Amino acid sequence: MTKRILTGIQSTGTPHLGNILGVILPSIRLFKKYVNTKQFVFIADLHSLIQQNDFEQIQNNAYHIAAAWLSFGLNIEKTILYRQSDVSSEVTELAWYINCCFPYNRLILSHSFKERSKHDKTKINVGLFTYPILMAADILLYNAEIIPVGKDQLQHIEITRSAANKLNNKIGKKLFVLPIPYFHKTTMLIPGTNGQKMSKSKKNYINIFSSDDNLKKQIMSIKTDNTFFKEKKNPDTSIIISLYKLIASKEKVDKMKTKYLQGKYGYLEAKLTLYKCLIETFSFERKQFTFFINNKSLLDNILYSGAKKAKIIANQRLNEIRKNFRLKEILNIN
Ligand code: AMP
Repeated sequence: MTKRILTGIQSTGTPHLGNILGVILPSIRLFKKYVNTKQFVFIADLHSLIQQNDFEQIQNNAYHIAAAWLSFGLNIEKTILYRQSDVSSEVTELAWYINCCFPYNRLILSHSFKERSKHDKTKINVGLFTYPILMAADILLYNAEIIPVGKDQLQHIEITRSAANKLNNKIGKKLFVLPIPYFHKTTMLIPGTNGQKMSKSKKNYINIFSSDDNLKKQIMSIKTDNTFFKEKKNPDTSIIISLYKLIASKEKVDKMKTKYLQGKYGYLEAKLTLYKCLIETFSFERKQFTFFINNKSLLDNILYSGAKKAKIIANQRLNEIRKNFRLKEILNIN
């Protein structure tokens, strides 16, 4: 069977630099390299319900996710771009089958659940707990084998592999492929402005699609130590350099490092250099993003066409799964 590559981003906001460097760019390179693969990019709007219940906002964010992928050159002739909610009945049905064969004791070990539930249990919902199951369904519904992800998703891929194994054992047949994560060591965890993992919920993100002024403000908010302007600075602990390294040439980074070590080089100057570099590096994508966001009917058409293609594949596959589980008889499905 043709290998399938699949990845997704929640529609909780505009994709940030972490999403772009960690997943969008590596996926697009992968798609270009392996032309003989089936490729899927989905907008995880059902997942985003865990954090948001403003449907209009989720819908609007979905446009932002689509526009970001397209502005980085996603080839929609080759890749199916769709909203998760366009295959909601298929994906949630499969998620239920997985729920019913996956051990509770294994799911409570999920880092993402443990991390968020330790703060305030009154603010979390069951969706947060079963998030990895829905993600497993997203992947197994298409028998996707290669999954571009950031570091935070590695455990979820493990859970998906385990779910695939359990389902295969249950039916006595290798119906589900065990997926593998795809990532680069240098971009699997992009730091945010406070040095922790860049994330929409932590509000430490850099949104390269925001206006020049807003982008500058985000860069200026990068945390630095109290080293005085004249003093020498440590390049190895600088968040500015960690980010600069990801987009600037080695020569430019070395130049900044030398200035740090020499002293008389302020963080303000370093931040301005990073800001200018971001503007230059992504000038084309920023223009493209504006174009797509101002052409919602074009985005609607692209998403509509993606939904149609995804739905056909999801339906066929779900029928195959039902048949193998002998669910056709129970569910009274033709
Ligand atoms: P999310 O925005 O949580 O839906 O994440 C979408 C994809 O981006 C997932 O594969 C994440 O692992 C990846 N991702 C999110 N934040 C980062 C980050 N700071 N660095 C690298 N990858 C990230």
